[in-house]
Formats: sequence, C-alpha cells, structure tokens
Amino acid sequence: ASAQIGVTGLAVMGRNLARNFARNGYTVAVHNRTPARTRALVEEFGHEGAFVPAESLQDFVAALERPRRLLIMVKAGGPTDEVIGEFAPLLEAGDMIIDGGNAHFLDTRRREQGLRELGIHFVGSGVSGGEEGALHGPSIMPGGSAESYAVLGPMLEKISAHVDGDPCCTHIGTDGAGHFVKMVHNGIEYADMQLIAEAYQLLREVGGYAPAEIAEIFRRWNKGRLSSYLIEITAEVLAHTDADTGKPFVDIVQDAAEQKGTGRWTVQTALDLGSPVTAIAQATFARVASSRAQLRAAYRGLPGGTDQELRRHEAERFTEQVEQALYASKVIAYDQGWTMIRDGAAEYGWDIDLGAVARIWRGGCIIRAAFLDRIRAAHAADPGLASLLAEDTFAAELADAQVPWREVVAVAAHRGIPVPAFSASLAFYDTLRSAHLPAALIQGLRDFFGAHTYHRTDRPGSYHTHWAEPGRPETRTDQ
Ligand code: NDP
Repeated sequence: ASAQIGVTGLAVMGRNLARNFARNGYTVAVHNRTPARTRALVEEFGHEGAFVPAESLQDFVAALERPRRLLIMVKAGGPTDEVIGEFAPLLEAGDMIIDGGNAHFLDTRRREQGLRELGIHFVGSGVSGGEEGALHGPSIMPGGSAESYAVLGPMLEKISAHVDGDPCCTHIGTDGAGHFVKMVHNGIEYADMQLIAEAYQLLREVGGYAPAEIAEIFRRWNKGRLSSYLIEITAEVLAHTDADTGKPFVDIVQDAAEQKGTGRWTVQTALDLGSPVTAIAQATFARVASSRAQLRAAYRGLPGGTDQELRRHEAERFTEQVEQALYASKVIAYDQGWTMIRDGAAEYGWDIDLGAVARIWRGGCIIRAAFLDRIRAAHAADPGLASLLAEDTFAAELADAQVPWREVVAVAAHRGIPVPAFSASLAFYDTLRSAHLPAALIQGLRDFFGAHTYHRTDRPGSYHTHWAEPGRPETRTDQ
C-alpha cells in the first residue's frame, strides 16, 4: 500500500483531480468502473506524477495507505450509492470516503450517518471550478467530521486554488454542510448569471449597443468593483463571432437556458428553511420560463412597452446606471445566499464560519471575484454580522446605487424588457428597509377567513376579530 489517496470515477472531474493530486506530489491510486479510462489516464498523464492504476475494487483498496482515503467522483445520485455500497465492505473503521460529486446535502447526511455506524468517515465535499478548476485548483467545500478534516484538510488545501497565499478550502461543518454550501454557491451563480444577462439585454435593446460593444463595456466593468470571472467570460462570449455565419455568437444560440438542477435544489431548500432567496429563485424561474416553448408561443406578439431609442450620450449615462443596478442587485443576491447559509446552519446544527465561505470562494470557483474579499473582511470585522447591508461600506454603496437602480428597473418596465432578477432584488431591498409592510393586511385577511389570529402593535397577545359579529369585541386567544 503506497497511495495517499485513491480516486474512483475518472471522467473529466475525477481524472483532473487525480492529476492535480499527483502533480502536488501525492501517490494516487486510480480506478474506474470501465478500466479503459484508467488505462487512458496512465498512458496520457502517467508522466505527471505517481499513479497506481487498479482494475479491481480489491486492488484499488489494497493500494491505499491506512487510514484509507478514497475520493468518489462518479455520477451523482444512484451511482454514488452503488459505489459506496461496493467499497464499504472492503474498508475498515477509521477509513475515509470523500464524495466530490454534486450530491444533494440530504443524501450526504443520510450516507454519512450510515457509514458512521460502520466507523467510516464520510466527507461530502463540494468541488467548484469545473474541469479546469479540478486540474489547476478548485474551490473545495468539505463537510464531515473534524477528525477526518485533520487528515484530509492539508491534502485538499494543497490541491485547491490559492488567493493571497490562502487555500480555497476549509472545513465547512459536519455531515452535509459542505454540499449544502456548494448548493448555495450554485444558486448564487444562477443569480449572478441572470443579472449579467439582464444587464446585457438592457444595454442591447435600450442602449442600442452591439454585442461587441457590450463586450467592451463588460471589459471595463471587469476593472472595477464588478471584477469577477463571470464578468470576464461574459466579455469573451459577447465578443465571439460565429465562424459559419459571421454573426455575433449570442445571436445564433437558442434562447432557452438549461440547468442541471442545483439552482432548483437551492430554491426548494430555501422554501423549507424560510430563506427569502428571491433573486436566486427568479434566476432559476427565468431559465425554466425561457425553455417553455409552447407558453412563449402563446404570449409572443402580445403588446409590450415603448421602443424609444436613446441617443449616444444618453446611452452612456444609461450604461453607468446599469452598472449601479447590476452591482446593487448582486449585493442583494449574495446577501440572500449568506442568509440561507446562516439559516441552514441553524436548522442542521452546523457551525459555519461565514467569512471563511467568502474566503474560499475568492478563487477556484465560478463566482470567484474580488468582491468576495470584501465579504470576507466584513465578517472578519464583525463575526456576528447579520447582513451585508449592516456593514457601512455596502450600505453606502447601495444608498448611492438606489436611484439609478430604480431608474433602470423603471426603464425596463416602460420598454417591456424582462428584468426579473433586477426587480426582485430591488423589491427585496425595499421590503426589508420598509417601516411598514402590507403584511398587516395579509394578517387581517387570514384572520377574516380562517380565524388565524394576529398580533397588535399596541399590546401583547394573539387576537381574533369576530368579523361576522360587528360590535363584538375582539378575543384574546393566547390566554
Ligand atoms: P459524470 O457525472 O459524467 O460521471 C461519469 C463517471 O461516473 C464515469 O467515471 C462513470 O464510469 C462513473 N459512473 C457512472 N455510473 C456509475 C456506476 N453505477 N458505478 C460506477 N461508476 C459509475 O462525470 P463528471 O466528471 O462530469 O462528474 C463527476 C462528479 O462531479 C459528478 O457528481 C458531477 O456532478 C460532479 N461535478 C462535476 C462538475 C463538472 O464541471 N463536470 C463540476 C463539479 C462537480 P464509466 O466510465 O464506467 O461510465
């Protein structure tokens, strides 16, 4: 037994993570259900480091140093359970199984509990950064026991991305915490992408800019506070021309967005937790709506807004307003994500360091951005920070942005351009800053039709009004 880590499942992610471990000096046992992939890996990349190829499960397990560390990178869902079921009988107490697939955190909790009974540590670990990240340094979000992190942490930190010398990997919390946080990361990623897409459409249809010009605007934005991987690649995609037709690439792609489901999981879980992730939800629904061809056919051609063109100098001013709206909406979407992580931690008993989450997302993952360092710093300055908006600099930025943000949403409404994530973010901001919400009326309606009771502003207790009996005093129901 000579391998410090074993990787089973050698499709794009597993293969690149195995290479990353090997390039970092670890001896890596490699295994795949179909042995051809194992052979191909060793043939193509064997020179990069020390690999121990294994064709049988037994040989693979025998190649691992104790306590054994086995990373599963197979298709998420049923295949993960199958692979765990095959390996568990071959392992011993103290061994560790890491699942780096995109598992649902509730599945991770279930698997962790089952394996814990056998004395095996199960570490559900979020891995972000796609194929390239897996090879050059992903952002890694491991859950599982603190004991397993003491052994695995240094290895995972070594292969992760690094920013300012800090690894983009930290122990997130026990059992499913890592996969939960990865899920929220993906939800935030959906919101980020939808906000970018809305900004693009406004610049195109209201600003009158061509895709190549919008690419230049995104390049400029990428030098400022919006600087991020997604803004950077937006410029590249917008500048890209289709080789066949010579048209802008965005004009030859069908406008029906797909998803693998992590955004959906985020929204479903948010509903269960009571976390108001409205920007993430709108981003998820916007993808779903874009793909509903029949519904779109039924609505197409209905009257929309005005089509007034902006003059060039007006378009330049509008562009600056869109930057403000995009930034403000992004702050809201991130605040919603962090709120959800806080809610998940409270529900499932995880001790999650909210600043550390920002720290490990600064590099390696899809939402990597300079902005995350500010979230890290805000939590470092105030570990009890309840919201980004409770921090002075974010609050000041939103105060500056709020007028242009409103103007952009108003222009979009006048012009009939859908901005579900911009407007959901603005509505969230206005909801939470309001001194009075019409929730009071909702409570009245609920009491009217269902005797659901209400609380008064002027005295304690729960009350019910006898709506059908005018003149009868309200009843206090909690005494
Ligand atoms: P896939 O999700 O396409 O899975 C293919 C791998 O799973 C192959 O190695 C395949 O083996 C193996 N496999 C499938 N079913 C079984 C089974 N029943 N028993 C044993 N092995 C099985 O691979 P990816 O590399 O794209 O992703 C791996 C994991 O990482 C997934 O959970 C994915 O969600 C996650 N992930 C992917 C990212 C990405 O960008 N692609 C990013 C982050 C996470 P065989 O060769 O024999 O068919």
